[in-house]
Amino acid sequence: SYQNGSPAALSNVVRKKLMGYVGFANFPNQVHRKSVRKGFHFTAMVVGESGLGKSTLINTLFNTKLYPKKEPLPPSADRPQTVAIESISADIEENGVRLRLTVVDTPGFGDFVNNDESWKPIVENIEARFDAYLEQENRVNRQKMVDNRVHACLYFIQPTGHALKQIDIEFMRRLHSKVNLIPIIAKADTMTDEEILLFKQRVLSDIEHHNIRIFKAPTYENEDEETLNENEEIASKIPFAVVGSDTEVDTPDGRKVRGRSYPWGVVEVDNEEHCDFVKLRQMLVRTYMEELREHTNDVLYENYRSEKLLGMGVTQDHSVFKEVNPAAKVAEERTLHDAKLAKMEAEMKMVFQQKVQEKESKLKQSEEELYARHREMKEALEKQRAELEDKKRRIETGRPLTPENKSNTKKKGFLRA
Ligand code: GDP
Repeated sequence: SYQNGSPAALSNVVRKKLMGYVGFANFPNQVHRKSVRKGFHFTAMVVGESGLGKSTLINTLFNTKLYPKKEPLPPSADRPQTVAIESISADIEENGVRLRLTVVDTPGFGDFVNNDESWKPIVENIEARFDAYLEQENRVNRQKMVDNRVHACLYFIQPTGHALKQIDIEFMRRLHSKVNLIPIIAKADTMTDEEILLFKQRVLSDIEHHNIRIFKAPTYENEDEETLNENEEIASKIPFAVVGSDTEVDTPDGRKVRGRSYPWGVVEVDNEEHCDFVKLRQMLVRTYMEELREHTNDVLYENYRSEKLLGMGVTQDHSVFKEVNPAAKVAEERTLHDAKLAKMEAEMKMVFQQKVQEKESKLKQSEEELYARHREMKEALEKQRAELEDKKRRIETGRPLTPENKSNTKKKGFLRA
């Protein structure tokens, strides 16, 4: 685990055995095939006051004891007064499909006397992860990109039955443009069904009132009725009221289930009549994992990137990356795709030009070398000729006159002197 900062340093990956069904091996959509083949990374962040059942839920979701048992909190005077960022990674495998799961925890959130800036280290951490990705994108060699961006943030709401608290609103307002927010009502077994329904309505109207964008599952045309129904059902459960438990209990009718036991009965985690756990898992792990990753890359990260580039004085068509509404999504994706293609083309052109230039300058260089050699040879020959002439003259002067050269010497009368 690490504190605030270097998100790339994930050295504590462990292999975990699943204890039962999770569901990521059963991706229904074609889109998932690519990720399935390659094995994939998924990073989820959990935020909420301590004791709301975050670690229990993560263990329940991924059916693995990812989270070690927690140390009891030290007395409040000894506790650090800032929100920490800790991450745990595990490789889990289901039916041959590998998933590198990273959970980013934010202990300390909401636990202090003054929680005004609780969101700040979290935003910083998410941005640091974007920066690390951006830095990799800017490298010439992009073969081994590691994606440590946060793909989903489970925000745990205390089951008060009242409205959202200031800290909830502040957190979601600060984070909704940076991460896929998935609000969750924690420990739903502490409320009755009617209370839950009412509380959900309150939470949703608060969210709407404050213009907070939570993750909305995209709907595609041409989807079969079953999928559409399933998607609608998932959407209707938000904010998910969940119960977590990593232990099995006995039901009165003799089954062993994951759940919590009460004098009046057993609350079953995996029973849709009892809580929304199954729907949350379906959304997060089965149906929308790829969409969460895509939305993170295409919209949230892209927004961050273009804002950052704008801040550095690099302009680009920013309008493309604005507000998302489902209807514009296809057009937006196409624009993004076109932009990507254009970028690739520009890069290819650049590489091509560079290659041509290199070749040209090499040719020029060898041409110059040829000239130089030619010049050198010419000069050497000239020199040789001059030497020969000189020699010839000296021989002519030093030699006694012969009948053959008489006539010559006559012409050059000075030689006789
Ligand atoms: P964290 O601090 O948010 O990670 O919370 P933990 O997962 O450590 O859980 C705190 C306590 O709440 C533990 O005693 C859990 O057994 C209990 N707990 C976890 N989930 C639930 C739940 O859904 N309902 C109830 N009633 N208790 C829960």
